[in-house]
Amino acid sequence: MKKVILSCALALTFGTAAASQDFNGYIVKFKKGSNLLEQKSFKSIGNFEKLSLSFGDFAKLTNVNLSNKAISELANNPEIEYVEPNWIIKVDPVDNSEVAADPKYSQQWGLINTGKNSGGWFSPGKAGEDVNAEKAWEITKGSKDIIVAVIDTGIDYRHPDLKENLWTNDAELNGIEGVDDDGNGYVDDIYGYDFANNDADPVDGHSHGTHCAGVIGASHNSIGVKGVMANVKLMGIKFLSDSGSGETIGAIKSIEYATKMGAHITSNSWGGGAKSEALKEAIQAAYDAGTMFVAAAGNSRADNDAKPSYPASYAVDGIVTVGAMDGKGNRSSFSNYGKTSVHVFAPGSNILSTVKNGSYKKMSGTSMATPFVSGVLGLLLANEPGITIKEAKERLMESTVLNSSLSNYAASGRVDAYRMLMNERN
Ligand code: CA
Repeated sequence: MKKVILSCALALTFGTAAASQDFNGYIVKFKKGSNLLEQKSFKSIGNFEKLSLSFGDFAKLTNVNLSNKAISELANNPEIEYVEPNWIIKVDPVDNSEVAADPKYSQQWGLINTGKNSGGWFSPGKAGEDVNAEKAWEITKGSKDIIVAVIDTGIDYRHPDLKENLWTNDAELNGIEGVDDDGNGYVDDIYGYDFANNDADPVDGHSHGTHCAGVIGASHNSIGVKGVMANVKLMGIKFLSDSGSGETIGAIKSIEYATKMGAHITSNSWGGGAKSEALKEAIQAAYDAGTMFVAAAGNSRADNDAKPSYPASYAVDGIVTVGAMDGKGNRSSFSNYGKTSVHVFAPGSNILSTVKNGSYKKMSGTSMATPFVSGVLGLLLANEPGITIKEAKERLMESTVLNSSLSNYAASGRVDAYRMLMNERN
């Protein structure tokens, strides 16, 4: 009886989803001890790429166009736990307004909002509506012991404002070319990995990932911009291609890699696709291993409480979901919200940061608000080593400034790094 219900549910989900969401092949999860993949008759279904992950055995199935009925039959195989579409995922920046020829710290209103650096053409911003970075820096500017993985379009690791704060895999850096020196399954992964192209070079051909990296950890070095953390190790993990899109399976591999390589936090400014059990399991496995997952709420002006947005809306305790606010301390018009499912708000409109080829640019999106929170949490982890994910999330949420303009849009309010470090609570 249970099987029948499952297969109907599957067919129904796929039927509706296929109409509105793109996917590339399927993700298959095998039950423990299954040797189906070794069987010739099974392989004839399509192309299987086997994936042994910390939370189970999977395969990506491509080169098939299976009917809903065939998928249900596959899902009902006693050795298979589930089958789901491998959803297409995208970066979601709203606007790439202008190239800043002479970037200055004074333009970074998200760190210190003077009211003059945060307004629009005709109206000023509001002083103090920022993450209160300068006061926080009197307590800590971060630490090279903290690894923040930017899971995105990669990082321009040659950028003069980022290169001092990059994570490197020292076994590979000092190792032999063409050899998996640290035995992690990836050859020559010095700065991270590129799961979009399956190679060891996560260089950013898009700019979105580099922008997020700069918000977290651009060097305080008298050129360009400043990151929330002056000291940090940024791990570049790419699964979104240079056009800004990728697959669920790439996101899963990225989270697994970050966790395995010791990232404390992953910053996830991406979304799209329908619900994926495998992606949720990957985030849960990361949480169980002590890696925090900061996620963008999304840019569709929608209520995530009513209509979930993934990965932000997965019910995993370690996820911190971030909405975007403008220079007046109001919700950015594009930002998703959710009285229970969006945890905090952070600056996300007209944010100046690093982009590819050593440049700087302003961008807007919950994509930009997310790395602010990753950086703020990084400050807390640097200042209080050993704090648990649960405690860190509580500290972040309970110390926010409760802007009345945000009260209907999030479970708490605007992130304040100083209040969080001082353990001030609402
Ligand atoms: Ca390696």
